[in-house]
Amino acid sequence: MPIVKNIKDKSLLGGKPMYSTDLLKKWESKTGENPSSCSAQGCYGRDLVGVQVQEPNNFFDDSYVVPVCKSCAEKDTEYYVSSELVKTEEL
Ligand SMILES: [Zn+2]
Repeated sequence: MPIVKNIKDKSLLGGKPMYSTDLLKKWESKTGENPSSCSAQGCYGRDLVGVQVQEPNNFFDDSYVVPVCKSCAEKDTEYYVSSELVKTEEL
């Protein structure tokens, strides 16, 4: 399971919002999946958005989108997700 961290540094967001329903829709069309609840481990929130995250152990500044609830999209801590990480630049 990948561990991720929400991107708070605006310069790494590529001019896109940190999270939005538009990013969720793009993640869904890219993966063909349609999650009904948050992909953060242990969370079952249903108000889903696509959030831009980084892998804290990855040396590079690549950003990815994952589907989580709004509360997880505001987290400051690292968390595990069960969903596929899709590179933001591929959406
Ligand atoms: Zn959540």
